[in-house]
Amino acid sequence: MSESIYIGVDLGGTTIKVGICNVEGQLLHTYEGPTEVAKGVDSVLANIEKYVRLIVEQSPFGWEQLEGIGAGIAGFLNVRDGVVVLAPNIGFRDVPIRALLEERLAKPVKIDNDANVAALGEAWAGAGKGVDNCLCFTLGTGVGGGIIIDGKIYQGFSGMAGEVGHIAVVPDLEAIQCGCGKMGCLETVSSATGIIRMANDAVERGDRTSLATVEKIAAKGVFDAAKAGDEVALRIVARAAFYLGKAMATTAALLNPEMFIIGGGVSKAGDILFDELRQVFAKLTPEPLQRGTSIVPATLGNDAGIVGAAGLLLRS
Ligand SMILES: [Zn+2]
Repeated sequence: MSESIYIGVDLGGTTIKVGICNVEGQLLHTYEGPTEVAKGVDSVLANIEKYVRLIVEQSPFGWEQLEGIGAGIAGFLNVRDGVVVLAPNIGFRDVPIRALLEERLAKPVKIDNDANVAALGEAWAGAGKGVDNCLCFTLGTGVGGGIIIDGKIYQGFSGMAGEVGHIAVVPDLEAIQCGCGKMGCLETVSSATGIIRMANDAVERGDRTSLATVEKIAAKGVFDAAKAGDEVALRIVARAAFYLGKAMATTAALLNPEMFIIGGGVSKAGDILFDELRQVFAKLTPEPLQRGTSIVPATLGNDAGIVGAAGLLLRS
């Protein structure tokens, strides 16, 4: 009996990454090539087809072992119909990508947004392996996320569920406007962008901090300063952790997840972030609702998207 394989595609604005997973979500082979957005939609689709065929050719597996292809895409999608409604970074507008790729590859194709597939990847084969109900928060330039219920991505009424970065957590007096147009979203404080903004504000105010001598402050620099005992940096980390913990307490009351998985560049801060987060969560969440629920770092890193995309074939 020959083993089934599943291909995950991470369709980005610059590169297309593809990977072969087995039925357990183990990433066995990867390949990447340029997206070539400027050449247009057909060319991008032709590149996906080319890379998918290439990776199978280069692997020990046969085309007949391929059960299907899943793709993670940043943008607004109609997941049910397999249509990219709007994805500015790849220049797609109303592209029925599922039908077009199924035609090219003659295999089943599934799509979902990049945050959801990353969450599914972690839940299927990463930090949440074996856990059926979990919530992922990805702390990067923004804050993305995904809700996994009974092992599958929860889509909500129009496929927008899991936009955890836009949970309003900051009180009016301290709130600033988010990229989404609303005030006080989690993303304004707990993303790398939010952390850098808070650091720049502190420096401009003239707060005494080692960050004042840094030419271009990065989120990692803020965490490093906090680890070295810089009080201003510690306050910023505590604030980012407080609002994330508050959002987690809110979602715990709604969904009672077994696990919170925290990924993205900011999560690399390690204990200084996680210790604070666990304390805030414990403080704000009713005791029965926190019992057994763990808060852990993501483990798949940048591969979460490919693995989760492959997982769409089995878990959606
Ligand atoms: Zn927002």
